[in-house]
Amino acid sequence: MTQPQAPPPQRSESREIAELRRLKQDQPELASAAELQIELLQLQRRVQSRVSLPAIRLETDYLNAQLASPPVLHFAHLPIEWGDLRFLLRATASAMRSHDALDDADFRRVETLCRDAERLPLALRSWYDSARTSDAPIHPDAAGLEPVLLQAMRPFLTRSADAIMAKTDLAGWTYGTCPLCAGEPDFAVITPAADRILICGRCSARWHFHQLTCPFCSNADRRRITSFASRDGQYRLYACDQCHRYLKAYDARRASRPVMPIVDGVATLPLDAAAMQRGYK
Ligand SMILES: [Zn+2]
Ligand SMILES: [Zn+2]
Repeated sequence: MTQPQAPPPQRSESREIAELRRLKQDQPELASAAELQIELLQLQRRVQSRVSLPAIRLETDYLNAQLASPPVLHFAHLPIEWGDLRFLLRATASAMRSHDALDDADFRRVETLCRDAERLPLALRSWYDSARTSDAPIHPDAAGLEPVLLQAMRPFLTRSADAIMAKTDLAGWTYGTCPLCAGEPDFAVITPAADRILICGRCSARWHFHQLTCPFCSNADRRRITSFASRDGQYRLYACDQCHRYLKAYDARRASRPVMPIVDGVATLPLDAAAMQRGYK
């Protein structure tokens, strides 16, 4: 197994990393969270450029037809390179532990899992499939490690989703879950035309969704949707009074840059606190 080489320095300074550094400077209380995301982005960048295309027919007619029996992207399609994945799992766990985002016991579980060539694929598949089969219990090796698995899988998931999105027409997709991987949205963007686009928390696919319907429980009664903006008006939060879940959005109507889910996720940590204080999760 070859160890990934460090990237040339200019590549590690993407726009997202520059924004995270600015956030860290402007809001010291977000420094640790921003620093962790910078480390994770740098790790993912080291393998991103050599991730292959997903093992699925990348033809528009075929992909559009697959939307009738979602999710489009199956675990077997993912272009996982196991050496790279194990590197990312170990390095992600280590970065998260050093920022108090993972405890020692879970860190050791990741180490153990990386050494087991049979259990690792089973655990990952179970995590991946758990999004669409919410009634099937997740593999015990994966349970509790979801945030680590997600970060390590990100380069393979986003590469696959980007390739499929480029060939697929999602205009007819009206559901709250991701058409490609069955994941849930973890961020949204409000377009200048006041439409809302959801962003998958796993593969980063994007699709339009009704502005005031809850994507988690389909509650469309706008009296039971609480919405409020951040102090600077840059972000908006939609909370559902039926399932008590919430979703944050970047308001691109008043923005100088496009949405950056990783940066915006850190910038809106105070909004998360406000939502949780009101009893949402
Ligand atoms: Zn997805
Ligand atoms: Zn709801």
